Amino acid sequence: MPNPRPTPPPNHDHGVCIETALRNAASLCATRGLNLTPVRRRVLEIVWRAHDPIGAYQILGELAKERDKAAPPTVYRALEFLVDAGLVHRLDSLNAFIGCDTPLAAHVAQFFVCRECHGATEIDDPAIGRALAAKSHELGFRIEPASLEVKGVCARCNASARDQQQAAEQ
Ligand SMILES: [Zn+2]
Ligand SMILES: [Zn+2]
Ligand SMILES: [Zn+2]
Repeated sequence: MPNPRPTPPPNHDHGVCIETALRNAASLCATRGLNLTPVRRRVLEIVWRAHDPIGAYQILGELAKERDKAAPPTVYRALEFLVDAGLVHRLDSLNAFIGCDTPLAAHVAQFFVCRECHGATEIDDPAIGRALAAKSHELGFRIEPASLEVKGVCARCNASARDQQQAAEQ
């Protein structure tokens, strides 16, 4: 059972996450006959390096550090490719992108989005996916791949708010 996916601890070896993501991407692209060009691969790596959702302009900034010229259309096209391939999800509410760690399984992405720290956790609950699919079929509504974003406050932010409140009460 892959869900609910635990949030990785802050001190985990994120290099392993990035390596796994890049390996998954390479095999997915090879299987589907997609061309993972060097720039697409770099953009994917930058998205993964961030761990939290990252905006296109931040990605552009990162790329600019490494290449003499990274025009915005290059980044937008690379992101479009990655989103279409299911390797990256777009979070409309944050206007940002996040890597998917189960790109090989077709799914409608579901996210908890924290309004405090702007972190996002992919929930990926098949039961929610099935319920959405059944309802959309019933209503003839075509769901877009990454379109479920549930807003709230994450466990970490909840805990720090509690700590602050306790400190204030003492
Ligand atoms: Zn990680
Ligand atoms: Zn996903
Ligand atoms: Zn938070």
